Amino acid sequence: MNKPKVLIVEDEPSIAELIAVNLRHNGFAPTWAEDGVAAQRELDAVLPDVILLDWMLPGQSGLALARKWRAEPRSKSVPILMLTARGDEPDKVAGLDAGADDYITKPFSTQEMLARIRAVLRRRAPEQASDTVAIGELALDSATHRVSWKGQPLKVGPTEFKLLNFLMAHPERVHSRSQLLDKVWGDHVFIEERTVDVHVKRLREALGMAGAMIETVRGAGYRITAQA
Ligand code: CA
Repeated sequence: MNKPKVLIVEDEPSIAELIAVNLRHNGFAPTWAEDGVAAQRELDAVLPDVILLDWMLPGQSGLALARKWRAEPRSKSVPILMLTARGDEPDKVAGLDAGADDYITKPFSTQEMLARIRAVLRRRAPEQASDTVAIGELALDSATHRVSWKGQPLKVGPTEFKLLNFLMAHPERVHSRSQLLDKVWGDHVFIEERTVDVHVKRLREALGMAGAMIETVRGAGYRITAQA
């Protein structure tokens, strides 16, 4: 098996080196870019399996880079883990809104970093059956990762796709946030329940008119319904 490629975008050499050494020791193939320009060069050359993206960078911020890479077809499905020194919840949510899959708050342990990288890789792995599920006019093909509504293709991010896939496989049932973290994220030890709300919001937006099919059930969680 090929070693998962991790692109580290971090302007502080000592931190980047420490991360790279730990990744190498644990079976990953890290590359390092010190800013957005260097990172773009790396990305154009070899598409990584995961991007570790520092929030505070000279030039383009990590947030701006996450937004840019999410918008580009080539890089849009590469998981992004934001590295942030800030503890503020609004910043973390801003990172997730910009398209990051998760965030790690500095200082973090090697074990925490590895757990989060493995979690995003697992989420991305195509473990689902190659099947199309449809609810009303909404269709999802887990083999081709395509979502459509009334035959029109919809753009859905990788985490939102997994969330939708799970909801559609269990329609009309209410799932609590912790159940969704467990089933969709797989390894939710480090993820807050608020993360679910952020991704549900993004999923609804991505689904457009069909977004109303994802219902919030007060005090209970979320469900997908054909009756919206
Ligand atoms: Ca920095």
